[in-house]
Amino acid sequence: MADKRNVLWEKHRMYLPEMRKRAVHRCKDCKFFVAIKGKAETKNGCIVHVKAYSSMEKPVPALLPIMDIIKRVGLEGLEQALKHSDPDAQSCGKYELKADGQRKVDRN
Ligand code: SF4
Repeated sequence: MADKRNVLWEKHRMYLPEMRKRAVHRCKDCKFFVAIKGKAETKNGCIVHVKAYSSMEKPVPALLPIMDIIKRVGLEGLEQALKHSDPDAQSCGKYELKADGQRKVDRN
């Protein structure tokens, strides 16, 4: 087992280009990671599976009303969106960097 404090070992680690992108980025910086506003609370979620947003038909907002997701993908889709709610989770292959205007969210 290699010693992880060994600088030479760390510097010689190789990544395929796609794998490096995944390893470096977190969900919180992805444009599909949004705040989903319900009646009582606001939660984080990933809307990459909502076709209107992933196909760029509609711009991805920073805050999305819960009904907007339910209308498009139903309760199962909402459940799927809320499964990816950890902002520090490692990004997936569909990661796209969030635009600056999308970063600030008023959760109230
Ligand atoms: S990196 Fe993947 S899982 Fe995370 S928010 Fe973006 S699309 Fe969703």
